[in-house]
Amino acid sequence: MQTIKAAVCHAFNEPLVIEDVQLAPPAAGEVEVTLDAVAICHSDISYASGAWGGFLPAVYGHEAAGIVTAVGSSTDGFKVGDAVVVTLIRACGSCPSCSGGQPTICETPYDTVKGPLKTSKGEPLEQAMACGAFAEKVVVSHRQIVKIPENMPKDVASLLSCGVITGVGAAVNAAGLRAGQDVVVIGAGGVGLNAIQGARIAGARRIVAVDMTEEKLSIAKEFGATHGVLATSKAPWKDAYNALGGRGADAVLITVGAIPAYDQAVRYLGRGGKAVMIGMPHSGDTASYEPVILAALGQGLIGSKMGDVVIQRDIPWMIDLYEQGRLKLDELISGRWSLAQINEAIADTKTGSAKRNVIVFDRA
Ligand SMILES: [Zn+2]
Ligand SMILES: [Zn+2]
Repeated sequence: MQTIKAAVCHAFNEPLVIEDVQLAPPAAGEVEVTLDAVAICHSDISYASGAWGGFLPAVYGHEAAGIVTAVGSSTDGFKVGDAVVVTLIRACGSCPSCSGGQPTICETPYDTVKGPLKTSKGEPLEQAMACGAFAEKVVVSHRQIVKIPENMPKDVASLLSCGVITGVGAAVNAAGLRAGQDVVVIGAGGVGLNAIQGARIAGARRIVAVDMTEEKLSIAKEFGATHGVLATSKAPWKDAYNALGGRGADAVLITVGAIPAYDQAVRYLGRGGKAVMIGMPHSGDTASYEPVILAALGQGLIGSKMGDVVIQRDIPWMIDLYEQGRLKLDELISGRWSLAQINEAIADTKTGSAKRNVIVFDRA
């Protein structure tokens, strides 16, 4: 066991506490990564507010990048010194989902409370989302990490771990967009902007962003939206039809957690269109729709976790897109903060104006 600093949640809706915690060395198949950057995602905030329940105390944080500083046995060639991104996708590699090419819905349970973290007193501490990356170091499965170029800035790279793969993957993998199709993206936040980029990369004809403010719609246009519709309008789907030349969309990507967005999503669809649920509403929230319309118009309603990505395939592809200037990452960062400032960074993210706030570690 070694002692590291982490931001610990002791009670839901209370500030995180920066304190010493214990981290076990990597077991077989695991690596230790010393972090340079971890971004704050709305999922971290939902967990910290108790929206999805879970064990306490816990360490959240799951969009990270750093350097491998120790390896267990059988880590598939990863070695000390490798620059990597760390994701929450702890896939076993051999269950029916993993074998079928869907590691994001791996069926092998992993007990996050019995993971590598303990409090300074040796008591249980949850490694939330199999990451626990609001900390100086993490110990994770080698299947959760992907090598990145050594010279790629880690704050930028950390975004690939969740928001970027979720948004781009939803457009390309889950919606299966083809060139020339029309898309509506509900929400122009961290994931929404990436769904917009994904639709652009997939060759979408028209991309309609739907959000609450003109400011966010104008940011959406910088990321590739061709039209913007205010969600506050009386019937925003009608505005979207107008933007799409009088027809519904081939795909609607719902990137927010608010239930009205789910209730309305199918209204944006054209014949044969698909609504892809990407955002993460609170547990127990329900949405409603008219099944007969979906049946009559041949429409689909599907869920997508983490953009249905295979990180070993998709993250190197996205790094190439970034290096070719076809995927915006630098522009997604709205602020950089220290671990000591994490509660301020979370508060700033909660205002909804932020794209991504990133915690940057000082590795003196
Ligand atoms: Zn996330
Ligand atoms: Zn599996």
